[in-house]
Amino acid sequence: MPNILELKNISYSYHNLHGETQALRNISFGVGEGEFVAIVGPSGCGKTTLLSIIAGLLAPEQGTILVNNPDGSLRYPKIGYMLQRDHLFEWRTVYRNVTLGLEIHRQLTPDRLQKVDRLLEEYGLDKFRDKRPSELSGGMKQRAALIRTLALEPQLLLLDEPFSALDYQTRLMVSADICHLIREAGKTMIIITHDLAEAISLADRIIVLSGRPATVRTEMPVRLTLKDDSPLAARNAPEFQDYFTRLWEDLTHED
Ligand code: ADP
Ligand code: MG
Repeated sequence: MPNILELKNISYSYHNLHGETQALRNISFGVGEGEFVAIVGPSGCGKTTLLSIIAGLLAPEQGTILVNNPDGSLRYPKIGYMLQRDHLFEWRTVYRNVTLGLEIHRQLTPDRLQKVDRLLEEYGLDKFRDKRPSELSGGMKQRAALIRTLALEPQLLLLDEPFSALDYQTRLMVSADICHLIREAGKTMIIITHDLAEAISLADRIIVLSGRPATVRTEMPVRLTLKDDSPLAARNAPEFQDYFTRLWEDLTHED
């Protein structure tokens, strides 16, 4: 699998009146096309900063991101960003929420709107298009947020702890559901999570970051015998506990 993105020695510091906070140091890793990469690391270590750099919202202080598209072009992949909360607006209907990204980017074209209609139908939200977000379940809200993101046809999805506002049971179902839909859509995904079990059950590879400034501590490819089943079943794979223990050790050991 060729890497579509290659991060090379990325470093980043925040500067303000009180001085400097180094958030990232010498981060290097690749992301393959269609791959699901999970990033775990202690709270405050620099995960969101790293995602912002990949999204192009922050420029790295040092280092580069190389692009390597399958078609040989050097165009940076189109990014879709999903955040902690679903950020649906209560004063808009579900339909006007899922088309918001298109509206902002002035892409309310018949093609794109047709795609939205198709996704609403596929994701079981068609009957809710004229409802308000508060009338949806947690899972449906996340699906709506996903439609809004996919409507812009991103190649690379960046998810920053997208399920952390959900209660545990809902989270199990919704994370499995959303990741299944993203796989079906054939997208590449980088997901930040503090939930090790979630990382193991969803990702093809897990990148463990150290405490701030974040450095790459380990890269752990995940191969589960039940992988092709559901992420919920994956938690019962015989290797699951091994991965969990290794991740835990990598996360908690002192440098
Ligand atoms: P994480 O997502 O892993 O919790 P962040 O990337 O949000 O961590 O933050 C990493 C470090 O950078 C933290 O110490 C945080 O306080 C600091 N930081 C984040 N954003 C800013 C900012 N805009 N200005 C100054 N410091 C910041
Ligand atoms: Mg964060």
